[in-house]
Amino acid sequence: MKDISCKLLVIGAGPGGYVCAIRAGQLGIDTVIVEERKPGGTCLNVGCIPSKALIHAAEEYDRIVHLASGKNPLGITTTKPELDLSQTIAWKDTIVGRLNSGVSGLLKKSKVKMVQGRARFRDGKTVEVETETGQQIIRAENVVIATGSAPVELPSLPFGETVISSTEALALTSVPEKLVVVGGGYIGLELGTAFAKMGAKVTVVEAQARILPQYDAELTRPVAKKLQALGIDVMTRAKARGLAKAGGTLLVEAESGSEVQLAADKILVTVGRRPVTQGWGMEELVLDMDGPFIRIDERCQTSMRGIYAIGDVTGEPMLAHRAMAQGEMVAEIVAGHKRVWDKRAIPAVCFTDPEIVAVGLTPDEAQKAGSEVRVGHFPFSANGRAMTKLGEEGFVRVLARADNHLILGIQAVGQGVSELSAAFGLAIEMGARLEDIAGTIHAHPTQGEAFQESALKSLGRELHI
Ligand SMILES: Cc1cc2nc3c(=O)[nH]c(=O)nc-3n(C[C@H](O)[C@H](O)[C@H](O)COP(=O)(O)OP(=O)(O)OC[C@H]3O[C@@H](n4cnc5c(N)ncnc54)[C@H](O)[C@@H]3O)c2cc1C
Repeated sequence: MKDISCKLLVIGAGPGGYVCAIRAGQLGIDTVIVEERKPGGTCLNVGCIPSKALIHAAEEYDRIVHLASGKNPLGITTTKPELDLSQTIAWKDTIVGRLNSGVSGLLKKSKVKMVQGRARFRDGKTVEVETETGQQIIRAENVVIATGSAPVELPSLPFGETVISSTEALALTSVPEKLVVVGGGYIGLELGTAFAKMGAKVTVVEAQARILPQYDAELTRPVAKKLQALGIDVMTRAKARGLAKAGGTLLVEAESGSEVQLAADKILVTVGRRPVTQGWGMEELVLDMDGPFIRIDERCQTSMRGIYAIGDVTGEPMLAHRAMAQGEMVAEIVAGHKRVWDKRAIPAVCFTDPEIVAVGLTPDEAQKAGSEVRVGHFPFSANGRAMTKLGEEGFVRVLARADNHLILGIQAVGQGVSELSAAFGLAIEMGARLEDIAGTIHAHPTQGEAFQESALKSLGRELHI
């Protein structure tokens, strides 16, 4: 097979890699992208998109179950629905398939050459790829490492038939009767909630003192309340120790120190993700590392000239939109544009029930940083649109510098608040002050009005509370 020489080689076609390659192609850079699985990476194939498809299906099912129970105030009656998870999964797969083709099409349109297979570094400028038709050598002036992340496996709970990762959970064709979720972070709770809504008896085992420990307690309280309402048992300060000899039972060390046995048809382990930095020759380049992650500067440049790294391999926050923004920036840098990472905030969303959005600093973080802040807090119980959606749980919280009212952070918890993340991110990126948000006409009736009201409240000018 003839060797390929190019200006830019991207390894991994997840959101970081494919966006980088598309932008590079648009800029006329001779670009090759290598992917061992399917275009779209974790996010599109086994992450963001399939999980949201499953969550949506579970919400629809749960809504109808709730209506069928007769205990709803809307005056709707219906019969109990049935769920065929294999059909739900087939529907999810069609969405993934459409997006796979979409990414391939966009790469083609940008004249990016796609090589299918696993890449392995020979040296910092040369990669060999095992393709279906033999070994392909690729030489590049610049290389972008975008190999992403994989689920962390617990030594005491190796993945197998009963113990599964999020990838297998998104491909189950029947709802497990009893599901234990080890790890109460966003991935575990999103999937655990979906399976509970689909009828599984779910238990969450979390080692820390509360679920979603990276968010403050005020934000996570409505989620904890809903987990309880769904019948999900949450064990905090509890450690999964392994399977009982008979199998199908998880041994857990409870907060008290005593051993609890949890019967389980499936045990979903969501205790984090590890960067894919080993087993494909990258370690032989001896790049500077930051713990398990590749160390990068504000241009995503690694310690080796001409080698960049983007996305989950570069550390937290491991989010698709961060990877994409890094990818776009690196393509422009390779094209000779002057770019540095100057983003002020990266929104984070938990698609739990209710949803959580966090952008910028929280009150605790601002306090630790020694900033004097003012905080505005507006509950959805005072928001008309939320009432009409039976979504009164939750609030919007805005915090700003006390002296000049520059907004430092915005958080919300509530039904459907993920869609407010764009407004929150924009406000921080544009350097908005409280007066800018308070003075912007927000359409009525929308949940977004709670954002305006939280700004008004922090200024002592609240109107609807
Ligand atoms: C269940 C779940 C839900 C999630 N939900 C969200 C969400 O709602 N929002 C959000 O922002 N993020 C979410 N994430 C995280 C998100 O998926 C990642 O942050 C994102 O995919 C990272 O993009 P990436 O390009 O860095 O890597 P990845 O998407 O992991 O892509 C890396 C690609 O590189 C390929 N690769 C690796 N090694 C090689 C090699 N040697 N040769 C060739 N190819 C290679 C892999 O096959 C893979 O396709 C979720 C993750 C999971 C697991």
